[in-house]
Amino acid sequence: MADSAAAPDKQTKEASPFLAQYLAAKEQHPDALLFFRMGDFFELFFDDAVKAAECLGIALTKRGQHKGEDIPMAGVPWRQAEMYLAKLIRGGHRVAVCEQMEDPAEARKRGSKAIVRREVVRLVTPGTLTEEGLLDARSPSRLAALVLTDDGAALAWADISTGAFEVRPVLRARLEDELAALRPAELLAVEADVSGLAQICGAAFTFRPPAKADARVGARRAKEVFEVAALDAFGDFTTAELGAIGLLIDYVELTQAGAAPRLSPPRRSAADAFMAIDPATRAALEIDRGARGGRDGSLLAAIDRTVTSAGGRLLAERLAAPLTDLNAIRARHDAVEHFVASIDVRALVRRELKGAGDLARASTRLALGRGGPRDLAALSSALSAGDRAGALCLGVGGDAPTEVRTACDALALSQHGALALLVQKLARALAEELPLITREGGFIASGCDEALDESRALRDDSRRVIAALQARYAEETAMPGLKLRHNGVLGYHIDATPKQAEAFLAPPLNQRFIHRQTNASSVRFTTNELIELDAKIARAGEAALARELEIFRAFVEEAGKCEAELRAAAEAIATLDVASALAEWADEAGATRPELDETHALLAEGARHPVVENALIRQGQPFTANDARLDGDGQAGPRLLLVTGPNMAGKSTYLRQTALLAILAQAGAFVPAKRLRLGVVDRLFARVGASDDLARGRSTFMMEMIETAAILHQAGPRALVVLDEIGRGTATFDGLAIAWATSEHLHETNRCRAVFATHYHELTVLAERLSACANAHLRAKEWKGDLVFLHEVAPGAADRSYGIQVAKLAGVPRGVVDRARAVLARLEAGKSGKVLDAGESMPLFAQALEPSAAEAELAALDPDAMSPKEALEALYRLRTLLK
Ligand code: ADP
Repeated sequence: MADSAAAPDKQTKEASPFLAQYLAAKEQHPDALLFFRMGDFFELFFDDAVKAAECLGIALTKRGQHKGEDIPMAGVPWRQAEMYLAKLIRGGHRVAVCEQMEDPAEARKRGSKAIVRREVVRLVTPGTLTEEGLLDARSPSRLAALVLTDDGAALAWADISTGAFEVRPVLRARLEDELAALRPAELLAVEADVSGLAQICGAAFTFRPPAKADARVGARRAKEVFEVAALDAFGDFTTAELGAIGLLIDYVELTQAGAAPRLSPPRRSAADAFMAIDPATRAALEIDRGARGGRDGSLLAAIDRTVTSAGGRLLAERLAAPLTDLNAIRARHDAVEHFVASIDVRALVRRELKGAGDLARASTRLALGRGGPRDLAALSSALSAGDRAGALCLGVGGDAPTEVRTACDALALSQHGALALLVQKLARALAEELPLITREGGFIASGCDEALDESRALRDDSRRVIAALQARYAEETAMPGLKLRHNGVLGYHIDATPKQAEAFLAPPLNQRFIHRQTNASSVRFTTNELIELDAKIARAGEAALARELEIFRAFVEEAGKCEAELRAAAEAIATLDVASALAEWADEAGATRPELDETHALLAEGARHPVVENALIRQGQPFTANDARLDGDGQAGPRLLLVTGPNMAGKSTYLRQTALLAILAQAGAFVPAKRLRLGVVDRLFARVGASDDLARGRSTFMMEMIETAAILHQAGPRALVVLDEIGRGTATFDGLAIAWATSEHLHETNRCRAVFATHYHELTVLAERLSACANAHLRAKEWKGDLVFLHEVAPGAADRSYGIQVAKLAGVPRGVVDRARAVLARLEAGKSGKVLDAGESMPLFAQALEPSAAEAELAALDPDAMSPKEALEALYRLRTLLK
């Protein structure tokens, strides 16, 4: 049967070929929801329908029967499929899209019972999205493949939306760190237990059959895809890396239904090319996500001044993976400095880049056959904007640094003939207003293609003929209001009112006017003349559309031939955007170029926390800049700095800002400090404000100890550790003992730069006992009974902790504050550590909760019964009672 909207119901016998087609498609993708195209809808059947209806909140209906049972069905309109896809993917589903591969009319030619040919054209999964509507413009969308072998592990990852493809060996101990840096949307592996890792890094896990990670197969597939005889040109790959490359390519092919993956050749990086930052550190430092999980409040949001989405993605990538190679870091700083130096050029370049669009994603969509006219326009506008921006950058005079020069070379159209020609042709060919989809045409400007202009003229001319015909029929039939209309089913027709229809149905008009359809409000007629004209218009329209699509395909093909150059240009735009945006931020924030070297020092003068500072500025308050001096060698500063000071004095802020300096500097940005000298950090640990990890069933104290253990095992001489109060979640002496031993271990064994904030004042004596340990404190002073925070870091230990003053500031009831003062006085007098015994403490509390003399007096007063004089006397009495 023909399976238009009226599909497989009524008789199961008739429905069976259709159902067979559905079941065959479903069998290929049992784990995915099958989007089965039927006319203007994607329909889902059986369990898929139930799941989709629940996830999308759409109606669940039924259609036909299978094995004597109703078949559940749900459908989404084809035109809005993208929106529903997005929701399903977010809901943790994957979707196989089964398309109609021919026109229903073509199927009918094979017989009235023939069904439309359908094929799965794509598997939509979290890691393989390319549509603008499904992607976050400013975040990379990564698909990663992890392979673990006896002699090592490797990660390969790709961004299908841009074609970026990378691979590198990883140490098993660092897997969590690597995945946290990468934050893939989807993780592939052949071991089921990798799913735990996927969960930690927030990726969807996809289990693949072990054969897919075979290194030999991987090498062969990579050679085929990148059309090379040997892979050596791209790097010296290990077995694990080849396995990961193969696993990834195979999955891309599967999800793109066999279409060749549009990936750039794999870029290989060394396992130690990036600063290792574990997930806990990332969360504590709020690098790309704030405390509430979104971008707000993150370091990235505070410094991001990029004007293109690709630039935004690159900046996020750089912050997620700061470099360790001095020269590579300096090259990035050179580029930023170039733009800091010339404000005017920077403004012009940024203005050009703003109009550049998303070249990488647009050209990938085109290459995958999912592009539209606007993607072609994006290509053209990005390339011309890039060309102008590049020329501006080089026009500064003096030598541009390597990073800027390389980018400008990739963008100079004068050096890329094919791209220049493409831009030129596109500029001429594309209409001013562009439709979103190609299907309806209208995107090629008139005057650029003769055949197209001709068909269009014919089509438009015929439309004029229709108007003339309407006038003539009106006159001939003496019906001035007669209307010719058009719809998709009947084409052009006469739309007659019931009264007009009477005349058409009676002689003599019924000789010429042929009845087509009767509706509630109108009756439709045609004439032989009109039928002919309608066919002519339709043919001309079809010819025009066919020609437009032909031109479109030719452009896509032409762009495909320049794939590598397009990719390089897209990268260049992102690079210039990031460098000029970081310069912009540096100017705004008064950030300076850090000096990096091979020492073990971190010497910061006047450093600030960019996020806290922003928040304070918004409240009209100043941020106090602070110095930090650390040296793993114990020469230019202490190796271990113990920081004390009351709560709220700024200890965590100081710790975090010290760590952020290292991240910013090594990511290639300037730093919010008057000056920073930094010996490259290879690993960063930040434990500030530990939180429960209830998902993994660990309490705060347990988490803290696990994390402390990781630091003590892993931090080497190049590491930087910032630790906020470990050992709180247990008894005082236990906690102090753990903090003490941890400090000693950091100082003696790890010998790394470390800042340790603590409330245990007892710890401060370590500064006298350890050779490279010093104390610092955040200044606060009491003023008129209140505590004032100066947020200033000064040498030496804090004199006291001011906990009770902070409790008072926080609004703890006065009775409790007073009582705490009394208990503290007793404890300090005893100093033996012997805490009050229960019998002693109970009555004290009882007493504190009794009303004071003044309160008792006040409660006894009866204002209504008092004369003014008595009231005044009572007031004086109350005052004396208070003293
Ligand atoms: P602590 O860790 O000592 O309890 P925080 O670092 O959490 O203190 O800081 C508490 C608050 O003090 C911050 O939210 C911020 O508003 C303010 N603050 C911290 N450091 C500074 C500073 N250097 N200059 C100005 N205000 C600061």
